[in-house]
Amino acid sequence: MLNEKPFIYDVDLPALEELVKSWGEPDYRARQIWRGLYQQLHVSPDQFTDLPVTLRERLANHYSFSHLQSEIVLDSSDGETRKTLFRIPAAVQSGQNLAIEAVLMRYEQRRTLCISTQAGCAMGCVFCATGQMGFQRNLTSGEIVEQVLFYARQLATLGERVTNVVVMGMGEPFHNYTATLSALDRLNHPDGFNLGARRFTISTVGLVPLIRRFTNERRQFNLAVSLHAADDELRSSMLPINRKYPLDVLFEACRDYVGKTHRRITFEWALIRDKNDTPEQARRLGERLRGLLCHVNVIPLNPTRGYAGQATTRERAVAFQKELEGMGIPCTIRIRRGIDIQAGCGQLAVERAT
Ligand code: SAH
Ligand code: SF4
Repeated sequence: MLNEKPFIYDVDLPALEELVKSWGEPDYRARQIWRGLYQQLHVSPDQFTDLPVTLRERLANHYSFSHLQSEIVLDSSDGETRKTLFRIPAAVQSGQNLAIEAVLMRYEQRRTLCISTQAGCAMGCVFCATGQMGFQRNLTSGEIVEQVLFYARQLATLGERVTNVVVMGMGEPFHNYTATLSALDRLNHPDGFNLGARRFTISTVGLVPLIRRFTNERRQFNLAVSLHAADDELRSSMLPINRKYPLDVLFEACRDYVGKTHRRITFEWALIRDKNDTPEQARRLGERLRGLLCHVNVIPLNPTRGYAGQATTRERAVAFQKELEGMGIPCTIRIRRGIDIQAGCGQLAVERAT
């Protein structure tokens, strides 16, 4: 797919205002376009019926309105989870395509989306299906935004709205920091999509300089850190990034985040049988987390083709949880949603506590 026109969802409101001005249009047109994109959820310029035809044509001539081609849609057997696989151009100028995925999870009143920030991932975590693919490319902010709008349009036809967004799909969001944060800012914008900052959660593998940047920018989005091991030897064997930013360095940044923002931090832990699901790992984790405003989410590993590890058992998950709770650390066992559709990039870690 060739797509050489700039992408309308890559444009933020100040840039849109500049653009409209350069076209000799009155200022208020920018906000009309913005509302059409983010409130009325238009998919093409001809739907902007409140704009003059000349302006609609100009938009159509200068901008593309979709980068993502939905290719495969899978619904879980309980109907509560939907995964969409999108094709994106490998690079502008290239005829090749790449695949990314985004997942919708329904739980009670919640409509949570799990979105991707990269095609592939450079971090190489051994148990992760995306990590096993290697890095392909960063998504643009507009491609991140479009995943949300794609589902928002579907939900709107049912009279429903997106209530939460977790940045836990393919890729490492802090390895694509600028695009990810500008996408979230755009979706958070009060005159547009207007989803509250606290409704977003960004999950990082632990890129310390970016955690520090996120802290210092006083971002209001929730932060989750993928931990998976409480000692450096084990963590480095599973998450190569740990060699660069070992646990002491990572925890220093996490403590600084909580200290400066007074916000609770979430730690994620995929329980792998006989590897990191032991009482000893739970105790070590508990010691590291003592006194920190935090919460631990554990989820049984979702086995992947490239990794021999197996999921923990229910009993061991509960024992792990008890151990942590005994040390005063809140811990929730998450279930894997949509397992029959391989939801969540082979790694769906959300929603229903058991
Ligand atoms: N790159 C970011 C966000 C995407 S991964 C990160 O690593 O945090 C989202 C979550 O899924 C992470 O906690 C990740 O460790 C976890 N995950 C990856 N593969 C998994 C698997 N096979 N089973 C369970 N969780 C997995
Ligand atoms: Fe990348 Fe996250 Fe997968 Fe690690 S777990 S390879 S950081 S997507």
